[in-house]
Amino acid sequence: MKLDIMPEEFVKALGVIKEIELHGFEAYFVGGSVRDALLGKKSHDVDIATSAYPEEIKRIFKRTVDVGIDHGTVLVLYEDSQYEITTFRTESTYQDFRRPDKVTFVRSLEEDLKRRDFTINALALDKEGTVIDLFHGLDDLKNGVIRAVGNPKERFHEDALRMMRGLRFASQLDFTIETETLKAIYTFHELLSKISVERISVEFSKLLLGNNRQKGFSPFIETECYRNCPGLAEHLKGLLRFSELPNFPIEEERQAWALLIKELSVPNKEIRLFLKKWKLSNQMMHETAELVYCLNKRLEGAWLPEDLYRAGLDRALAVEKLLSFYNLKGKLKETEEQFLALPIKERKHLAITGNDLMTIIDRKPGKWLGLLIDYLEKSVINNEIPNDKEMLISCSKKIIEQQDFQG
Ligand code: ATP
Ligand code: MG
Repeated sequence: MKLDIMPEEFVKALGVIKEIELHGFEAYFVGGSVRDALLGKKSHDVDIATSAYPEEIKRIFKRTVDVGIDHGTVLVLYEDSQYEITTFRTESTYQDFRRPDKVTFVRSLEEDLKRRDFTINALALDKEGTVIDLFHGLDDLKNGVIRAVGNPKERFHEDALRMMRGLRFASQLDFTIETETLKAIYTFHELLSKISVERISVEFSKLLLGNNRQKGFSPFIETECYRNCPGLAEHLKGLLRFSELPNFPIEEERQAWALLIKELSVPNKEIRLFLKKWKLSNQMMHETAELVYCLNKRLEGAWLPEDLYRAGLDRALAVEKLLSFYNLKGKLKETEEQFLALPIKERKHLAITGNDLMTIIDRKPGKWLGLLIDYLEKSVINNEIPNDKEMLISCSKKIIEQQDFQG
C-alpha cells in the first residue's frame, strides 16, 4: 500500500531518511507516527528506525544528542526539528517481565518490527510513502483491532506494560482488543505488579482520557488488570460505577482522577494518599482533591460565593464541565459571570493586610490574626462588608472587642 499524500511532518523529515540512505543504510518512519498518519491524525513525534548503528548515525549528522544510546537511540537535530533515530534492534531475555535485559542491534527491519507490541504499531513507511506491513497491521487498523504481534502470551510475558498499552490504545483509538490478545491479558494481568507504578500511571491516565474510554476501561476491569494497579484492588463496585458514567471523553487529567475518585467513594482525607500511590505530582494531587471537593459541593446545588471563591474561575469551569457526567448541564457563562461579580477574587485583593491589622490592633501576632482575616475575607465575599479599608478596620475593632481571638 502506498500513501497518496505524505503528511507534512514526514515530508519535513524526508531529508533525514535520504541522508542515511546516501550512506548506504536503510531508514524508515516507524511506530506511532505511521499509525497516526494512516488514521489521518497528526503525530506529535516522528520516529525513525535505521540499519545504521548509533555511532554511524553520529558520523552522518553534525548535530546529535545521545539520548538513549544503550538502546540505540540518537537524537538528530535537523533543520529546525529533531528526530529520534533508533537502530533496528531485537530484545532478548526478559527475566523480570519488564524491559529487556539485553538489546541487540540488527541490520534487519523485519527483526525490529517483530519486537514491537501491536500490529498497528509495527508498520513502517519508506521515503516513497510505501507502507511495509509484515503483520497485517493495515487490516487491523482498518477494522479497529488491537492485536499483539506474534504470540500474545509470550509478548505480555516478556513485557507486562504492553497489557496496559493495549488497553489505552483501545480507549484512545476506539479499537477493540482481539480475543486471543484479550485472553492473554487476562492470563498475565498479575505480572503488572512487576512494572513500576510510574509507567503504569502514564498508560492509565492516557486510558482515562481516551476518546472512547469504555473501550479500554471495560476490558481493564474484565481482565482484572485493576487488581494489580495502585489502590484499586478492593474497588470493583466503584470501578463499575465509573465505567457506567456517560462515555464522553474527559478533557483533562485532573478531571479524570476526580471522577474516578468520586465514583470509588474515596473519603476526602484519603484522596491524597490514594493519588500518592499513583505517584502523581503534588500539583496534580492538590488539583484533583480540590476538584473533588468543588464537584461534590456543586452537585448539591448552585455555587455558593465562598465555594466559587475557593475554587477560582479555572477550577470552577472544570467542575461545570464535569456536570454532564451526572446528566446535568454545566453553566459555563453563568459561572464566569458569578465569579467576576465576586467582590474579591483572591485574598491579596482584600483591602487590608495582616500587617495593617497588627498595627491597628496592638496585639502580638498569633492565631487571632489568621482567624480575623478569614472572617473578614468571608464577610467580604458574602457581601456582608464592603471591601473598603476603613470599613474593615472598624469591623475588626468591633470583633476584637466582642470576641476573644485566642492565640
Ligand atoms: P503515542 O502516540 O502515545 O506516542 P506510540 O505508539 O508512538 O504512541 P511510544 O511509546 O512513543 O508509543 O512508542 C513508539 C513505538 O515503539 C510504538 O509504536 C511501538 O512500535 C514501540 N513500543 C513502545 N513501547 C513498546 C513496548 N513496551 N513493547 C514493544 N514495543 C513498544
Ligand atoms: Mg510515540
